[in-house]
Amino acid sequence: MCGIIGYVGPKKCADILLNGLKTLEYRGYDSAGLAFFEDGEIQEVKAAGRISNLEKKMEGRLDADTHCGIGHTRWATHGGPTDENAHPHCSEHIALLHNGIIENYLELKEFLLKKGYIFKSQTDTGTAAHLIDWCYKQTGDFLDAVIMALGKI
Ligand code: GLU
Repeated sequence: MCGIIGYVGPKKCADILLNGLKTLEYRGYDSAGLAFFEDGEIQEVKAAGRISNLEKKMEGRLDADTHCGIGHTRWATHGGPTDENAHPHCSEHIALLHNGIIENYLELKEFLLKKGYIFKSQTDTGTAAHLIDWCYKQTGDFLDAVIMALGKI
């Protein structure tokens, strides 16, 4: 069963997120990933397999000047346990983590493909990230966009 951690606050958080994921390892997982806000952009680091693989990819970045981020340990349901399918899944301004299954994701994916969205993963979650982005473009408000997207999921 997957695990989720998030941090926003005064401390630099890359190592807080990574250590937080380690405390969730006992739940079982097949891949892990982080997204954090650095230099005005979302940075995404993901790795199939153990958190130690993610840790290797984060070498030299644990002191990143980031104070806002999210992390996930995944238990794959849609798409194999690969780097690309690990969470977070990003759309233009959004990084998303998710536990569970989006039952109507194929229908939503078809709609979003027609709108020009490109899918980098095979997951149901990647669909939700793009859907929230599309809703954000309709509403101009993040909370309204999430509410609108959840109405369609
Ligand atoms: N359905 C999602 C996936 O396959 C989430 C899996 C999970 O709960 O970790 O990526």
